[in-house]
Amino acid sequence: MGQDRQTIITRDYEAGTITKAIKPFTLLDYRGVDMAKKWPRERVYNEAATLRFIKDKTTIPVPAVIDVGEGPSGFFVTTELIDGVLLAEIGDKCQMPWLSGHQPEQCPACKTVATANGKTFVEEVILPQLRELKSNTTGFNGVVIPPPWVTEIDRREFWKTKTSAIPEFVFCHGDLGPFNIMIDPLTLKVRAVFDLENGGFFPEIFLEQWAVDTKGYFNIYKTMYENPTELAKLVEALEP
Ligand SMILES: [Zn+2]
Repeated sequence: MGQDRQTIITRDYEAGTITKAIKPFTLLDYRGVDMAKKWPRERVYNEAATLRFIKDKTTIPVPAVIDVGEGPSGFFVTTELIDGVLLAEIGDKCQMPWLSGHQPEQCPACKTVATANGKTFVEEVILPQLRELKSNTTGFNGVVIPPPWVTEIDRREFWKTKTSAIPEFVFCHGDLGPFNIMIDPLTLKVRAVFDLENGGFFPEIFLEQWAVDTKGYFNIYKTMYENPTELAKLVEALEP
């Protein structure tokens, strides 16, 4: 989900660009299991490819891809910088505290309105268009990077593509939460959706795993960690 110790975000306000670099990393937990993000190279190339695909095939607002490659900080993707405030952080500093119901910090009005707008946007603009993008093979261009709440728990080294006789797999964002939705702090409407490193074609049940509020999004993780049958259902749908 965007920021972590191996992901470096650099904003260039003059150029109007943002670069996400992911460096190969080892992060051992208390059990000695490497919890670092796998497949840095595949992730940035997948992000560039899926952003271009979504921009080309839908009206979903995503940042334009400017460059992708390997640099001193690791594998990187550079995109257009979309101005705004993350839905997860909207209202932390209110832009209109003089209005009724608003307050300067931790503004409940901004939070409520932006969250409602985000939910409507996901339901009416994002999901219907993603559901129309179908494939008979999982992943994208032969690369399968399942959502983080799957790969954090199932630590396999490689996910095989799954092929079906019919195009039953639909395009999924893969990490559709309030940290990856940019809001206009004045209109409180969605400006863009980004962070598509987990994007690709997946069984349709994956399309329903999203939330526009932080608590709701962490509940998806919580469910996967605490309810093995729920995770097993998703994993089974991915197995060739
Ligand atoms: Zn406000």
